[in-house]
Amino acid sequence: MSTIPYKIYLEESEMPKYWYNLRADMKKKPAPLLNPGTHQPMTPAELSGVFCDELVKQELDNDTREYPIPEEILSFYRMYRPSPLVRAYCLEEKLKTPAKIYYKFEGNNTSGSHKLNSAVAQAYYAKKQGLKGVTTETGAGQWGTALSMACSYFGLDCKVYMVKVSYEQKPFRREVMRVYGASVTPSPSDTTQVGRKILAEHPGTTGSLGCAISEAVEVAVSNPGYRYVLGSVLNQVLLHQSVIGVETKIAMDKYGIKPDIIIGCAGGGSNLGGLIAPFMGEKLRGEADYRIIAVEPASCPSLTRGVYAYDFCDTGMVCPLAKMYTLGSDFIPAPNHAGGLRYHGMSPILSELYDQGMLEAVSVPQTSVFDAAETFARVEGILPAPESSHAIKVALDEAIKCRETGEEKTIVFGLTGTGYFDLVAYEKYHNGQMDDYIPTDEELARFAAKLPKI
Ligand SMILES: *Cc1c(COP(=O)(O)O)cnc(C)c1O
Repeated sequence: MSTIPYKIYLEESEMPKYWYNLRADMKKKPAPLLNPGTHQPMTPAELSGVFCDELVKQELDNDTREYPIPEEILSFYRMYRPSPLVRAYCLEEKLKTPAKIYYKFEGNNTSGSHKLNSAVAQAYYAKKQGLKGVTTETGAGQWGTALSMACSYFGLDCKVYMVKVSYEQKPFRREVMRVYGASVTPSPSDTTQVGRKILAEHPGTTGSLGCAISEAVEVAVSNPGYRYVLGSVLNQVLLHQSVIGVETKIAMDKYGIKPDIIIGCAGGGSNLGGLIAPFMGEKLRGEADYRIIAVEPASCPSLTRGVYAYDFCDTGMVCPLAKMYTLGSDFIPAPNHAGGLRYHGMSPILSELYDQGMLEAVSVPQTSVFDAAETFARVEGILPAPESSHAIKVALDEAIKCRETGEEKTIVFGLTGTGYFDLVAYEKYHNGQMDDYIPTDEELARFAAKLPKI
């Protein structure tokens, strides 16, 4: 076995040629999306009004194990993939841990996160179908940025509804989207029926992801030649993000490395679902065992404190119902929550696997996340996104446990992106203006009581 380099890159010939569909190896499949009116499973015809045809197929396909990645997407991936799998030697030394720590770094592209992996796929299929453009929502702006890049590459119009508070607080992210030709509208806006309704009911609201989704869907279904795209949660997004895990697995197999613990942050579940996909596949087939840990913010704890039930994906209740761990579609994390990962629900695939006991979940308070981010940045050089730093926090905790027990575990975590646009959050942390608000059981129960009765 050759010595393990500091950064493991794959040769072009070793690069994944397919996405891996984890659902094919699940005995109990994730629950289907339901029509919000009839409560019957969404049909391909119903879904094709909202999503591109090929993406509808991928969304509903629980059986095909491998999807060849189209050549056009592979050539886009070549611009920024493979992403490096890095051995965190300096971090190990700093922690004086016998653990071996690796991270898969997805921040090496202009959009700054893993979201580009699915954005390029979704834009490609829209173009192939002859559409004019796509609509979407974005919170902090990473997804909108990634989609703008992908749409400009394929010559598609891109309309982004950006949560108003982020639109105002993250003007630079907005400008990156405009560099790539997207139109960016603060949400809620008066450009849609649902936006006008929300504004009338909640004047002065600073918006939420659920509300921006409702607006983007309305614009897609009411404009011929447009479809809606979503950056996380959906099965198709996890399928595209499997490129992260497949690359990681190929790189680890190349050097004979077997992870004991795999850790990822969990917002809607796409990076975690992608990173763990081939490893979880082995676990489901009984070929190997891994500890898999989802890390979420204590202020938005859908897996650790949510309910596994059908819920709306959006505030306006125009989207299909998904069965997922959810805090309720009206849930909005406390205003000083700075670290992303603020969606109320979790990917149906990860929700089902969590329900089956195939993965663990922990929630962490945000100041501890920023502590971990700085520890990491100071020795590994990369300024991590706050979202990614949730995974760093738990990787540090596990490595410190190894120091105490002397175990030489191999830990791999997903470093999903960079934090250059998150410096307001870092500033709050430095100035001691960040607290660790955690919702009470009573608060969560109030939102859970409003779940649709299915
Ligand atoms: C969007 C985002 C996440 C969370 O989304 P998932 O769908 O849960 O992966 C994590 N990290 C970064 C950098 C992001 O931009």
